[in-house]
Amino acid sequence: MTQVLRKFGVMGGTFDPVHYGHLVTAEAARREFGLERVVFLPSGAPPHKDPTGVTDAEHRYMMTVLATLSNPHFDVSRVDIDREGVTYTVDSLRILREIYGESTELYFITGADAILEIVSWKDPEKLLELAHFIGATRPGFSLDRVPQSTQEWLSHHPERVHMIKVPALAISSTDIRERVRTGNSIRYLVPEPVEHYIRRHNLYKHNL
Ligand code: ATP
Ligand code: MG
Repeated sequence: MTQVLRKFGVMGGTFDPVHYGHLVTAEAARREFGLERVVFLPSGAPPHKDPTGVTDAEHRYMMTVLATLSNPHFDVSRVDIDREGVTYTVDSLRILREIYGESTELYFITGADAILEIVSWKDPEKLLELAHFIGATRPGFSLDRVPQSTQEWLSHHPERVHMIKVPALAISSTDIRERVRTGNSIRYLVPEPVEHYIRRHNLYKHNL
């Protein structure tokens, strides 16, 4: 049996743009599960979103780098944005396993909303073979709201599925894009360098 020497978190997302909700969640998971690193994984063409409405991957990547720079335990991976076409999480995890090797255990971190989606993802069983799964619920979110079939599926894998609570941060990228478009402030919702990057590149002025 391979000895597990280190544990890495993987924080997948569109990050359009990255915000403090993502950062707080990643840090909470890191502390709670003793993760050596959390790798942020900006998506290529996400299967669950309309690819035409998503900002250019290089902009999303740059903003994620800027947001994570000050935390020595945070990293950003280009694995998904450098791949052509639709990228599935299960394939991304397979690639990351190859890069980091057998002795690294992966913990895939997602927010509560993604728990509902995970069973509909490509190959959910394989996903749990490749990585642990950390579902971050916000206070007030109850697993009762998760459909029975999903709850049953999750309960079959208690050693691979974990839940953590993160502080209630009602921040979403959708809201930030809308704020920029309508001229509202995004100060204290995203790290300052991200705010500057958005202004400098005139992002989110026209699209939602
Ligand atoms: P959008 O509004 O465009 O859907 P988002 O804010 O949900 O964007 P994503 O890039 O879709 O951001 O999310 C990446 C991951 O971060 C997902 O697993 C999502 O559940 C989680 N997440 C997003 N916002 C928060 C938040 N405020 N607190 C905790 N987790 C979050
Ligand atoms: Mg989302």
